[in-house]
Amino acid sequence: MAVRLVQKPGPAASLVIRGARVLDPAAGIDEVRDLVIRDGVIGGDPEGLEVVDGSGMVAAPGFVDPHVHLRTPGREDLEDIATGTAAAAAGGFVTIVAMPNTVPVVDNAAVLGTLLERGEQEAAIRVGFLAAITVGQKGQELTEQAEMAALGAAGFSDDGHPVSDARVMRRALQYQQITGLPLVLHEEDSRLSGKGVMHEGAVASRLGMEGIPSISESVAVARDASLAEYEDGWIHICHVSAAETVEEIRRAKARGIRITGEVTPHHLTLTDEAVVSLDASRHKMNPPLREESDREVLIAALADGTLDCVATDHAPHDADEKEVPFEEAPFGITGLETAFAVCNTALVEEGLVTLETLVRRMSTDAAAVLGLPEPTLADGAVADVALIDTAARVVVGQDGFHSKSRNSAWLGEELLGRVALTIAGGRIAWRG
Ligand SMILES: [Zn+2]
Ligand SMILES: [Zn+2]
Repeated sequence: MAVRLVQKPGPAASLVIRGARVLDPAAGIDEVRDLVIRDGVIGGDPEGLEVVDGSGMVAAPGFVDPHVHLRTPGREDLEDIATGTAAAAAGGFVTIVAMPNTVPVVDNAAVLGTLLERGEQEAAIRVGFLAAITVGQKGQELTEQAEMAALGAAGFSDDGHPVSDARVMRRALQYQQITGLPLVLHEEDSRLSGKGVMHEGAVASRLGMEGIPSISESVAVARDASLAEYEDGWIHICHVSAAETVEEIRRAKARGIRITGEVTPHHLTLTDEAVVSLDASRHKMNPPLREESDREVLIAALADGTLDCVATDHAPHDADEKEVPFEEAPFGITGLETAFAVCNTALVEEGLVTLETLVRRMSTDAAAVLGLPEPTLADGAVADVALIDTAARVVVGQDGFHSKSRNSAWLGEELLGRVALTIAGGRIAWRG
């Protein structure tokens, strides 16, 4: 059963990127040279092709995001497939995977089939769709996963909610033997999280706010790692936020469990101190921003590969929803257009993660966590390329957003890194 990634039709790109640093760490490529793309494929004769000046820029394999909310179907006022994939293309992404917590939930073949059709007409880059683990994401009854796998689902997730019942999770892992697709898990013990609105710690105490403890995440991961070990399953952990969770994943990997983890640009770069700011609601997410000590552990884990990839958890909301008291504001921020620049500015420029590692974790490794085709700059590959001016300064939101929503945590901030060109699936998807 093959995962279906869909993209709207378009002409194949033919051009030569002149004099860029061609950087594909997974393929062992790192040299300043021309990169030829002919008829949508890497390599070939540069004769007669349009020349794009790449001097001073980095040509990398395009980025992959295994965790995006496209709000479609149901909330197309916040985002749709066309705008979400346009935002992704502008951020250097060539493939994204959408979460099923929509209205209605993607929990049956009819909804999934419609989405795939819409993607074929609207998506600027490749998009895949996860389907729900349980009917209505209510955590009780498994969906018809074999049927949705046959249609081309990218995997299964109840993101937005944990699968609280261990028996249901065990069933899903058993069913996985049929579908062969990953379970993508939002890990949280709802009872421990309670009515929490931010990280449980000194800042929450100071502000008098209800906290979500780190163990709410780590105990859920420990449980599911045990279940995956017992059922010989395959799990991917969403938006890891806490040091305790990194430790659980490290131990599970050491035991040989098929487990991967992702981390968001916001958890890598911000802490609960951001909630003290005037614009606190822009920093409300689930899992919450945690402490500096957690952030340091997340960065080290991304560097050493314990956390496999960066994922944005791009979550569009409208301004009104966010302009309510902090306790009532919805969780989540947008991230596709800023992901590379945020990580480049806060991690690479600060010497915490190398550019080579960041590129890998955003492209090759991000595809691998869901078993998707890995973008590569090797000759003969379909062109999936992000051409990036890593030294260019951009002010977030200054020229508007491609996303329909503007709930960015970095609005108005100056970051380093501008995507000049994105070629996805052999087609030009974005040109700055
Ligand atoms: Zn989630
Ligand atoms: Zn999410």
